[in-house]
Amino acid sequence: MRLPFMKDRKNTVKSKEANVLLAKCSQHGKTLGMRVETYKNDWIRTWSFKIDDSKAKREGFDKTLIEGTLTPTDDYPGCPYCGTMELFICPCGKLSCIQPDSRSVKCYWCNATHKNLAPVGKAKVSGGGF
Ligand SMILES: [Zn+2]
Ligand SMILES: [Zn+2]
Repeated sequence: MRLPFMKDRKNTVKSKEANVLLAKCSQHGKTLGMRVETYKNDWIRTWSFKIDDSKAKREGFDKTLIEGTLTPTDDYPGCPYCGTMELFICPCGKLSCIQPDSRSVKCYWCNATHKNLAPVGKAKVSGGGF
C-alpha cells in the first residue's frame, strides 16, 4: 500500500515573505491579485495576475493585511486587464488600479467614483472583503 503523498517542505530561506493583495481594475471592474514581497522593511509589488472573486476568497487573499509603499519592481507587469502600474486606495480601504492621467476613478469595491485622487503613498491595506 502506498503512503499518501506528502508535500515536501520547501527548502527556501525565509528571508523573504510573500503575500497576495487584491485590487479591482478601475477600467474593467475585474479583480486582480498582486504578489507582494518584503524588501527592506517595505512591501513591493512583484507580479500581478487575473483572479476571480470566489477563488481569491478561497485562497484567503481577501484577508491579507500589510503595510508598505507597494512600489512596483522593474518587471512588475502592471494590471493584467489594462496594463497600468498605478494604484489608488479608496476611502473604503480597498485598492484599485488607476490610469495615470485619469481625473476620476471608480472604485468597484464600494461603487463610488472619486475625483482628485492622490497616488498611493504608504498604504496600509487589506486585500478584499466581498
Ligand atoms: Zn486595470
Ligand atoms: Zn471604495
